[in-house]
Amino acid sequence: MNEPTPLILLVEDEPQMRRFLHVALEGSGYRYLEAPTGKEGLALAVQHRPDVILLDLGLPDMDGLELMLRLREWSQTPVIVISARGQETDKIGALDVGADDYLTKPFGTGELLARIRVALRHADPLATEDPVFVLGRWRVDLAKRQVLVDGQEVHLTPLEYGLFTTLIRHAGKVVTHRQLLKEVWGGVAGAQPLYLRVYMAQLRHKLEETPSHPRYLQTEPGVGYRLKTDD
Ligand code: CA
Repeated sequence: MNEPTPLILLVEDEPQMRRFLHVALEGSGYRYLEAPTGKEGLALAVQHRPDVILLDLGLPDMDGLELMLRLREWSQTPVIVISARGQETDKIGALDVGADDYLTKPFGTGELLARIRVALRHADPLATEDPVFVLGRWRVDLAKRQVLVDGQEVHLTPLEYGLFTTLIRHAGKVVTHRQLLKEVWGGVAGAQPLYLRVYMAQLRHKLEETPSHPRYLQTEPGVGYRLKTDD
């Protein structure tokens, strides 16, 4: 039996963006709904239960952050924030309150569709019965806490392992500095983005073929990190 066609809701006030995304999404076989204001967006989300929401942060009646907060009171629908440059703080704020990903305008159709596929996939390997995560040359046995690269076991320190598995749990999605510090360091006072840089460098050194040009452990400048799963 076929899965029903995913429904995408776009909340965006710019008519040009709506036209572009309408064509791109319907052309790719998705069902599509749009709202020009936050209030209408929330109403459509309640009424139609979309599979993914694309959310512009600069809306005429409320900011995207407020919409995110109100949505997360009752819904875990994946949200991809679409923001203009210069909205860095809002973007990070939206990710911190539960948005799944973001795209900075302008973006291409290919990138948008890749992010939607990630959002639609149930990307939580820790929730599956076979807790083994495989990516490229890596094989991570989450039950045994064992990391193999090309079949060779690599020793990670507990913090490196914690950082790595947090990124695996959010595979394909951006994870903010604040989320990582909270999940890996448990909100220890004084933990800073600098720690992340240090531990990420160590992880890349142990796991990436070319640590200076990481293929999977990617930096999202000013925001956080992402374990890239699409090539
Ligand atoms: Ca806008």
